[in-house]
Amino acid sequence: MTAQSGPPTPARRAVLRGSVAAAAAGAVGWQTATAAQAAPAPAPRAGAEAAEPRIYGTAEWGARPPEIDILVEDHVPTFIVVHHTADPGNSEDYSLEHAKQICRDIQNFHMDGRGWGDTGQQFTNSRGGFILEGRHQSLDVVRGGTQHVQGANVGGHNSEVIGIENEGIYTDVDVPPALWDSLVALVAWIATQYGRPVENILGHRDFNSTECPGNILYGRLQELRDAVAGAMGVQSATPSVWPLLRPGSTGAQVRAAQHLLRAKGFEGLRADGVFGPATKRAVVKLAEVHGVEQHVCSAAHHRTVDETGYLGSDIWPLLTPRLTEGANSEVGEAVATLRRAGGRTKGGSELLTPRDWKGLLGS
Ligand SMILES: [Zn+2]
Repeated sequence: MTAQSGPPTPARRAVLRGSVAAAAAGAVGWQTATAAQAAPAPAPRAGAEAAEPRIYGTAEWGARPPEIDILVEDHVPTFIVVHHTADPGNSEDYSLEHAKQICRDIQNFHMDGRGWGDTGQQFTNSRGGFILEGRHQSLDVVRGGTQHVQGANVGGHNSEVIGIENEGIYTDVDVPPALWDSLVALVAWIATQYGRPVENILGHRDFNSTECPGNILYGRLQELRDAVAGAMGVQSATPSVWPLLRPGSTGAQVRAAQHLLRAKGFEGLRADGVFGPATKRAVVKLAEVHGVEQHVCSAAHHRTVDETGYLGSDIWPLLTPRLTEGANSEVGEAVATLRRAGGRTKGGSELLTPRDWKGLLGS
């Protein structure tokens, strides 16, 4: 397979949109149940397409040739995923030269440190607001609008996702305005090219139990969806997602998780609402039993944060049974705990779906 080059004609893009909208109804994985119950995604309005922003290609930043054959898949990605690079941190060099240097550093790390054969993400967005191609061919393939360059940035989901690495770490501080503006422009263009609904704009943590893209940037994803919807001239929408709990977390979600872990056989675990060492051990064991690999964000040069035992999007589906709340006393306790905390749910005699659990968990 080869990448197509050149932007699609408006006519071809319109045809593409129709087929993509049809395909979206059968989206893969946990999103299926959500999509089936959610209001239908509004079709993008003709004539309100987001323009292609200036994107520096691999040749412009001096990429090494890839050591693998780039895999171009004959379908569009389902999700547009936001990451932060974490290390080496929040540089105050906002120049284009610096942005190009980050791309070379990440590529070297991914090829030499991780053995991936090329950059893992499809695009990189710098703190100075420069957008650069990551994996080779990503730019031309998005321009084509019908295919997907498989990257390496969301463990277990790389055929479904197109990933953007945003330079910096956003656990405690906000992104620079320039980075925000270029992120909106890039995501709006990708969503236009691929006909993706804005609720399919997600963070790395919506797939793996990781901090990425940081609490602050993650907390702005709805604002990003709204801005992208505005740029595309469509209505905004909000996805239904799982929360991220980690050692040190406290409260009703933790207590509910502990009841659900007890229901899974960790009877010795106290449901005290505090995510301590025993809860962490139980989550690690559960992940191990189910073969869930730990996928931390991979643009980082050095890992400084241990994300072992994080309870996120790849763990909740193992914990939240399709039962009525009365079928198991621990499950009933978990539901009661979340209801007291204000979680939304339907009546108690129906099977609890993933969407019900997400509602109960307060997302
Ligand atoms: Zn990430």
